[in-house]
Amino acid sequence: MSQSDQQFLAGASQEALQLFCNEAGVPPFRARQIADWLYNKLIVEPEKMLNLPASLRLALKDFFRAPASRVAEKVTANDGTAKLRLELFDGESIETVLIPTPERMTFCLSTQVGCPVGCRFCASGAHGLTRNLYTGEILEEFLLSSIEAGQRPDNLVFMGIGEGLLNFAEFSRALEILSSPDYFAFAPRRITVSSSGYVPGIRKLTQMKKEYNLAISLHAVDDEMRAQLIPDPLRYPIAEILAAADDYCDTVGRQYTLEYTMISGVNDSLDTAKKLAAIAMAHHAKINLIPLNQAEGDFRRPERRQIEEFERTIAAAGARVTRRVERGFKRGAACGQLRSENLMKGKRDE
Ligand code: SAH
Ligand code: SF4
Repeated sequence: MSQSDQQFLAGASQEALQLFCNEAGVPPFRARQIADWLYNKLIVEPEKMLNLPASLRLALKDFFRAPASRVAEKVTANDGTAKLRLELFDGESIETVLIPTPERMTFCLSTQVGCPVGCRFCASGAHGLTRNLYTGEILEEFLLSSIEAGQRPDNLVFMGIGEGLLNFAEFSRALEILSSPDYFAFAPRRITVSSSGYVPGIRKLTQMKKEYNLAISLHAVDDEMRAQLIPDPLRYPIAEILAAADDYCDTVGRQYTLEYTMISGVNDSLDTAKKLAAIAMAHHAKINLIPLNQAEGDFRRPERRQIEEFERTIAAAGARVTRRVERGFKRGAACGQLRSENLMKGKRDE
């Protein structure tokens, strides 16, 4: 079996585990034990599956990728936020971020190695797309992050590296496995899918008819302003994006969020704030402001006062608005930056 054909243990079905047990010549209850380790205890390393015979643990490692990725780097900020760089089986890197607050633990996960959309302020898109992540790799992000955090998260947000809806087959399968009662049983309402507005993908997500939270990275109030931030050809017209998001909302019964990365002199005027509020109210959407983290290009984060006034203007117009909580990283704050720095170093750790 070539390395890329080998199955990931993360996400393996009950049938696949039964087949493995058959081949290994062990009784079927062993498959249920393995599934219990994976999907209840969130353990993917066979050597930690203590109630299995040693020979079966070895056989598992031979038969499956278990796991294929490893934590290559961990950076922890003063406020407890931790960023992991995971090295994949082919030496590529992705990132996950573990975000604790007193109320809940959130994991921010990646869906691709790099990103083909190429938003001009984003470190993830700066080097284009290297490849899609496999379902098993996305699930390993969840599992390895849980081990690092020492707990199961309360929320999952797909706001790491990549545009998940452009990797629909593998990403949607990961969503299904995360939320299926037969696997991780993670409530769809606790999972957020963030998209730069890839309309065909939003339509496919709608067809899944699950209550995932949808976040649309709008960043602008008209197509001309948006074209300054998101290049062709993967930028869709705002009207088409909002129509697809409205259909999602109507089909699934969940309101969506408009993500708005604030950039000085580009999209942060108070007139723009009023227009943004009008869009949000017309579409019953919430606004989440994300002050730019310096990453790519010459873009600058607005001054604190401008951010506050922008937010106040939206609220005064009657729209619901929140601001992304700033986490305490000094450098490499935006998702994708650890990977980017590592690419720049031109070598991989170890
Ligand atoms: N590709 C998807 C999900 C990953 S990006 C999307 O674009 O929605 C997740 C969010 O981080 C997006 O809203 C994106 O605009 C934002 N983002 C990317 N780079 C950023 C930066 N340097 N500063 C602030 N927000 C950034
Ligand atoms: Fe890709 Fe999202 Fe970054 Fe744009 S913001 S380049 S869509 S990861």
